[in-house]
Amino acid sequence: MFALAAASMGYRVIAYTDEPDSPVSSVCASTYHGSFDDTNRLKLFAKEAQVVTIEFENIPVEALRVVEEFTHVRPGAMVLHTAQNRLREKTFLSANGYPVVPFKAVNSFEGIQIEQFGIPAVLKSVGFGYDGKGQRVIEAAVETEQAWVSLGEAEAILEKFVPFEKEVSVIGARSPAGEFAAYGPIENQHKNHILDVSIVPGQISDALANEAIALTRSLMDALDVIGLLCVEFFVMQDEKLLMNELAPRPHNSGHYSMEGCPTSQFEQLVRAICGLPLGTTSNHSCAAMVNLMGDLWEHGEPDWAAALAVPHVYLHLYGKRTARPGRKMGHLTACCRTVDEAVTRAKKARELLSRTRA
Ligand code: AMP
Repeated sequence: MFALAAASMGYRVIAYTDEPDSPVSSVCASTYHGSFDDTNRLKLFAKEAQVVTIEFENIPVEALRVVEEFTHVRPGAMVLHTAQNRLREKTFLSANGYPVVPFKAVNSFEGIQIEQFGIPAVLKSVGFGYDGKGQRVIEAAVETEQAWVSLGEAEAILEKFVPFEKEVSVIGARSPAGEFAAYGPIENQHKNHILDVSIVPGQISDALANEAIALTRSLMDALDVIGLLCVEFFVMQDEKLLMNELAPRPHNSGHYSMEGCPTSQFEQLVRAICGLPLGTTSNHSCAAMVNLMGDLWEHGEPDWAAALAVPHVYLHLYGKRTARPGRKMGHLTACCRTVDEAVTRAKKARELLSRTRA
């Protein structure tokens, strides 16, 4: 989606991917296929590009450091270094006074003091943290060892399980000149720890919305992010915000912006990294986005025509070859006058996808 946005603005996009059959190849000018530790290939790629960005945060930082020697990398390797490791991320946030869930670093099973924050607690591996990957909720002390073993007995953090009211995200954009724009707060509902529905505008007070945006702006300045930064927040009962996770790239919760805003998050990323003025992020209308997971393919090809017959609904498919349960394959967005109408239409369209064909 980034490649398509950049191409529509006249840029020639070159991708670097370690996937043999990546969907990006069908929508960009050329593809470098190679591993992220192939220094020579990375150098060739870097020399061809005027600016490089990322769409996935679990790329080895060393690969970005190689590329950074030859061209602009936005956001830079330092941002990735902080955001791709839950312990570094939370340590940075708490050391700089940002509100986070109480946490503790854990290096061994014996080091897990399960009663420290009370039960339930959450054990999270420090790496590969997205879509609930690498985390276990511990409901009783006896489950601790199993959780530790299932996360590979590797460096982790123990976190308090917080009974939040809502989850919201803000996607900030920042240019090399320090210009800032924000999408959201977007209200996010998860299913099995994976984003299921995003709603705009998020149903929170103006004061809280402004605070979430101000925190995002301050954090982007502090980390010197050029590009996008998604900040996921827990909204607590006492109207307090806690930061849960950072993603320095276009975010699933911002997909609504493709039809819902004058400038989509993808075009915004192009503008930010190319040093262009940032675009308008206000909503044309209310919007709801629902994810399409691989589970929808369980009984064969979903009924696209049925979903597309719902007015004000837009379909995006990512071109992934294999549908697996839990894999994000695409999304639907409904743009309507009210949030309720948008949610109803988006969910209705998704239901129609899996109806039994006559
Ligand atoms: P994460 O992979 O850290 O973004 O977590 C995925 C989802 O798990 C979050 O969006 C929350 O719904 C839930 N979650 C993560 N950490 C906590 C926590 N400390 N307390 C309660 N729920 C959590």
